[in-house]
Amino acid sequence: MSDSSRLRIAVQKKGRLSDDSIALLKAIGIKLQIRDRLLIAHSTNQPIDLLLVRDDDIPGLVMDGVVDLGFIGQNELEEKMLERQAAGKKAEYIELRRLDYGGCRLSIAVPNEMDYQGIQSLQGKKVATTYPFLLERFFKEKNINASTVMLTGSVEVAPRAGVADAICDLVSTGATLEANGLQEADEIFVSKAVFIQRAGEMPEAKQALISKMLPRMDGVTQAKE
Ligand code: ATP
Ligand code: ZN
Repeated sequence: MSDSSRLRIAVQKKGRLSDDSIALLKAIGIKLQIRDRLLIAHSTNQPIDLLLVRDDDIPGLVMDGVVDLGFIGQNELEEKMLERQAAGKKAEYIELRRLDYGGCRLSIAVPNEMDYQGIQSLQGKKVATTYPFLLERFFKEKNINASTVMLTGSVEVAPRAGVADAICDLVSTGATLEANGLQEADEIFVSKAVFIQRAGEMPEAKQALISKMLPRMDGVTQAKE
């Protein structure tokens, strides 16, 4: 095990949240040396270690208390929270800040040729998604009896491949949908990146460090506005 007196922060290793999260840490004065392929990066001027992982793993690392802090998209956080609740696992965290990056929406999209008359048109249909818990919650709220097909990648090709009638996927510009002959039909979840802390007691020195980080983050965010 590594030194437990050091604050541990989970950050996406490579992807849409990586650069902004690391830039934010650097902007608040944390010096970091990140080397490719390493799971851990140590700060050279603060008692802070970064854990560089897939974003899917971050909610669980925080909720299991393996790391103290994490940067994660609300979509992934909420999905994993529902998944863990369903499995009877601990699903607690503290949201410290909502951040100004990582914006996207989780939307249902249907093939252009489908005669879509609103969400009722999905009654009895199959919908492919990477977010089955968020999608099933939405269907339940709307009283739609549809089934979800879990795919961790290539969701947008599922209708053409005959695997599903529609999809539910993250959208930012809509270009991917268009390229696959799909149109956005309903937005089910709007998301941004958030900075979260594990639930439970935090040693005083670590909490003091977190308390110093937050106003600096606010300063960086405000300076950009
Ligand atoms: P990993 O290998 O870490 O699992 P990934 O392929 O799941 O990577 P990314 O595509 O990097 O993840 O997306 C990570 C997060 O970035 C998403 O969960 C979402 O919160 C956010 N995001 C912002 N814009 C978009 C977008 N246009 N499409 C997908 N995700 C987006
Ligand atoms: Zn992921």
